[in-house]
Amino acid sequence: VELPIHDAVLARAAEFADAPALIDGTDGTTLSYAQLDAFHRRVAAGLADAGVRKGDVLALHSPNTIAFPTAFYAATRAGASVTTVHPLSTPEEFAKQLSDSGARWIVTVSPLLETARRAAELAGGVREIFVCDSAPGHRSLIDMLASTAPEPHIDIDPTADVAALPYSSGTTGTPKGVMLTHRQIATNLAQLEPLMSAGPEDRILAVLPFFHIYGLTALMNAPLRQGASVVVLPRFDLETFLAAIQNHRITGLYVAPPIVLALAKHPLIEEYDLSSLRYIVSAAAPLDARLAAACSARLGLPPVGQAYGMTELSPGTHVVPLSAMREAPPGTVGKLIAGTEMRIVSLDDPGKDLTVGEPGEILIRGPQIMKGYLGRPDDTAAMIDTDGWLHTGDVGHVDADGWLFVVDRVKELIKYKGFQVAPAELEALLLTHPDIADAAVIGVYDDDGNEVPHAYVVRRPTAGELSELSESEVMMYVAERVAPYKRVRRVTFIAGVPRAASGKILRRQLRERA
Ligand code: ATP
Ligand code: MG
Repeated sequence: VELPIHDAVLARAAEFADAPALIDGTDGTTLSYAQLDAFHRRVAAGLADAGVRKGDVLALHSPNTIAFPTAFYAATRAGASVTTVHPLSTPEEFAKQLSDSGARWIVTVSPLLETARRAAELAGGVREIFVCDSAPGHRSLIDMLASTAPEPHIDIDPTADVAALPYSSGTTGTPKGVMLTHRQIATNLAQLEPLMSAGPEDRILAVLPFFHIYGLTALMNAPLRQGASVVVLPRFDLETFLAAIQNHRITGLYVAPPIVLALAKHPLIEEYDLSSLRYIVSAAAPLDARLAAACSARLGLPPVGQAYGMTELSPGTHVVPLSAMREAPPGTVGKLIAGTEMRIVSLDDPGKDLTVGEPGEILIRGPQIMKGYLGRPDDTAAMIDTDGWLHTGDVGHVDADGWLFVVDRVKELIKYKGFQVAPAELEALLLTHPDIADAAVIGVYDDDGNEVPHAYVVRRPTAGELSELSESEVMMYVAERVAPYKRVRRVTFIAGVPRAASGKILRRQLRERA
């Protein structure tokens, strides 16, 4: 795989020609493969003409739109590294990412222009702000479509040049810029391809953000490489989401656990025709097997398949192949993809390899491991050891057939009197309670200095009113179902669980609250 990412993804664009590549899920505007291919080349010419040079960092600051892939591939074709920015970032957060990444260019959309301007002011160093749509005083990608400048022919070295500079989710600390080369991303796409969605007949709903590596891969690069149609929604809203599945006859969903939860439990589901769906894949955070089963049973689909990865792994290492969704054991995140090695090592004795069924830290080695964290050599060295093994910080175990199960993050495990309790397990159990709509668990210290599980619970509204569920009922419910050391010792009712755009529970925020 020695093509730059834009060529790797658009290799078959001429063959797919007039087939719809991107469809706006709100107004139906469609971009064909031929248009996507032609447009990104002309925008690349426009960006080069505006001064974008090889090695420049360009910040792409946009919700999901049908223009997003054009902007992304145009920038990489012009030789830039693209750092994708959360569209809800405050000017201060955005400015941090601009300075940390050394971005010289911004591509945004007019509703976010003010934020981009203030961020650029705070950070300094930004030469120009372009818009995807149009805004007075700013060059737009639409204008660039008329560019007569020659298409830039940049000499890209796929093994060394950074195509994408996504920031990790910041679930465990400050988000870090992850340098992914053209080759790392293209290799991972090729590794995942045989296991993922099928081809031109597929209609994928892009509701998770493109700016996160999961969306960028599963909802943009992979389907566009295969000739599928990507129906784009700017944000998650259950009714719009369900209407889009129905109206666009969506065949495949790549989602995160909160959407599986909604599909399994929300009463609205019954009101839509979701019969076009053939498969659902969940990734980015722990998904309970019971919840997955409830979702599939309700929709009459094969079991929800999972995938596992992280930004630093370009991003995927494990996936339940679409062809194996029925035989995969419940709860697995999948099997190791080709060309990649894995070890599970003891948490107490990190040199010691564990065997089938024993949980330990997941280590990965393969060609898709990031080049490093930008400007953080110490963090990079702490993550990737001298033998090339990346320490994921996740706890997992494999069964005799090689199916991986992820328990939780090493750092999130609650150590109660020498025992280890995984918050994810308790969260999953809490969700099986009919009156619990959502839940998160963290470790807090009690008066005796013991770390104990503290549950934050969202009660299910019944006929507009919150259920009567009490704290002691929640504790009892858990106590009746787990070993004594895993019991929830504190309960707080909250209105909503704080989550990242990728669906992950932000336990850090709960900890600050506690
Ligand atoms: P940061 O590294 O900045 O703290 P983050 O780790 O959440 O943030 P990402 O790279 O977006 O950033 O997420 C990768 C993590 O997501 C993995 O390390 C793992 O903990 C979790 N994860 C991904 N897929 C799954 C899955 N299928 N099941 C359980 N956890 C998953
Ligand atoms: Mg991480």
